[in-house]
Amino acid sequence: MIKSMSEIKSSQITEAVSYLCKKAACFLPEDVYMGIKDIHSRETCEIARNFLEEIMINSHLACKARRPMCQDTGIVTVFAEVGQDANIIGDDLELAINKGIERAYQEFYLRKSIINDPVFERINTGTNIPAVIHTKITPGSSIKISVLPKGSGSENMSAVKMLKPSEGIEGIIDFVVETVKNAGPNSCPPLYVGVGIGGTLEYAAMLAKKALMKEIIPITDLEILAKTDKTKELELKILNEIQKTGVGTEGFGGKYTAFAVSLETHPCHMASLPVAVNLNCHAARHAQIIIDENTDIPELIGPDFEIPPLKNHTNYFSYKKLTLPLKNEDIDSLKAGDRVLLTGEIFTARDAAHKKLVQAIKNEDKLPFDLENQTIYYVGPCPAACGEVIGPAGPTTSGRMDAYTPALLDLGLKGTIGKGRRSPEVIESINQNKAVYFVATGGAACLISEKIMSAEVFAYPELGAEAIYRLRVKDFPVIVGIDSKGNDFYNRI
Ligand code: SF4
Repeated sequence: MIKSMSEIKSSQITEAVSYLCKKAACFLPEDVYMGIKDIHSRETCEIARNFLEEIMINSHLACKARRPMCQDTGIVTVFAEVGQDANIIGDDLELAINKGIERAYQEFYLRKSIINDPVFERINTGTNIPAVIHTKITPGSSIKISVLPKGSGSENMSAVKMLKPSEGIEGIIDFVVETVKNAGPNSCPPLYVGVGIGGTLEYAAMLAKKALMKEIIPITDLEILAKTDKTKELELKILNEIQKTGVGTEGFGGKYTAFAVSLETHPCHMASLPVAVNLNCHAARHAQIIIDENTDIPELIGPDFEIPPLKNHTNYFSYKKLTLPLKNEDIDSLKAGDRVLLTGEIFTARDAAHKKLVQAIKNEDKLPFDLENQTIYYVGPCPAACGEVIGPAGPTTSGRMDAYTPALLDLGLKGTIGKGRRSPEVIESINQNKAVYFVATGGAACLISEKIMSAEVFAYPELGAEAIYRLRVKDFPVIVGIDSKGNDFYNRI
C-alpha cells in the first residue's frame, strides 16, 4: 500500500512558531498558574505569600495587556516532532522555525537576547535567533511543534552531572537538591524542576529541558499517584526534599521552593548514571501546536483558561516611602527586610553597561552621569510597544554585576536594585560606603513597569536592551536585601 504524503508549507510552520512564541511570552499555561496558586494557598510565610501575590498579579497584567510576563523573553528551545509522511514545501524546517521566532520577537516587542558568538564578539544578533532546535522523526503526517522560551536567570543555574550507578536514587535526589540550593534566589523561585536521567551527558540535558514541557500534576494528585507509580513517587520525594531547603519564593524563605518536579528518563550504559537538572523559574513558559496541511494557525486572543479574579496587592500600606536620590539619614534608617516604595530618578545598567562604566573609570574618562548618591537598577527591559513608557522591566540577576559594583560604590553610588545574592566583596563595600542593596520581585516585569513613569535612553544606545536608561519611578516596590551595616536579608534562611 502506498502511503500518501501530506504537504505542509514552510510558511505554516513559520506562522505557527510565531504564534507560539507570542503565546508563551504572555500567557502562563494553566497548570503552571494553578501550581503557583496552589502553593500560595498552602504557604504560611507572609513574605513568601506577598511575593506569590505579586507574581500572580503580574500574570494577570501580562494576560490583560498581552505583553511578556518577564522582560527576559529568553532563548527559544524548539522541539519539533516531524511525521515521516510530512513533506515540507518551501524553506527547510530550521529556517522556517527561525523565521517564526524572528517575526514574533519583532512584531510583539519581545526582548532580543541572543548574541552571535559566545566567546569572542558577543554581539546581539538583533533577531533573537538562532533557536536551539531538537528534531525527532515520528510516525504520521503531522508536525508537533513545542516552544520553550527561557531566561538566563534559571538556565544559568541548571546543571548536569555523571553520577556513579552506585549513587542510585539517593545520589539523584542529592544532586537535584544541591542544584536548587546553589541556585538560591537567582533562578526566581518557586521553581518547576525538570530532571533528565539516563542516555548520555548531552541527552540527559535535553531530557531535563523536555521534562519542563510536561503537564504539572497538582500536589494532592501527585501524592495519590505516588502510591502506585515509581516515577511519581520519586518526583514527590524530590519535591519534598526541595521544599526542605527553605529557599522559598524569591529566595527569602518559606515552605515552598518549587511547585513541581518532572522526570524524563532514557536507557543508558550499564556503567553510567547521567543526571541533568533544568531549573525553570515561576515564569515557566511553553506552548505547543500540532499542524497538518489543513491547519490554520489561530490568532492570539487570550490564555487557554479563564483566569480567576485576583484582588490588587494591598500590602503596600506597610511599606516605607523614600524619595530619590537617597539621603544618608534614609539609608541609615533602613534595615535588611524593610519593604520600601521608591520615588524619583534612577538609572539602569546591566552587564555591558557596567563593563563600559568601569572601563571609563580605569581610563579616567568622564562617566555618562555623576554616580554621587545615585541608584542603579539592573534591568534590560523589553522594547516599549505602542503607548508604553517602557516595556516589561523586571530585575536581572545582580551577581553578574558583583565584579564591577565596588568601583561604583567607591565613587558615591548609594543604591543598587536587582535580584539575588551579592558577593562578600560587594557586601563589604556596601557596608564601607554606607550604601544599600534593594531587591525587586524577579519576574514581576509587568507589575514593575507600571511603576515607571518615564524612560529615556541616556547613554550607550549602541547596547540596545543593555543601554543606560534614565527612569522616573513612582512607588517602585523593593525590599532591603543588604542594609548599610552589611546585614544580608538572604541570610534569614
Ligand atoms: S522570572 Fe526570573 S529567572 Fe525567569 S526569565 Fe524572568 S528574570 Fe529570568
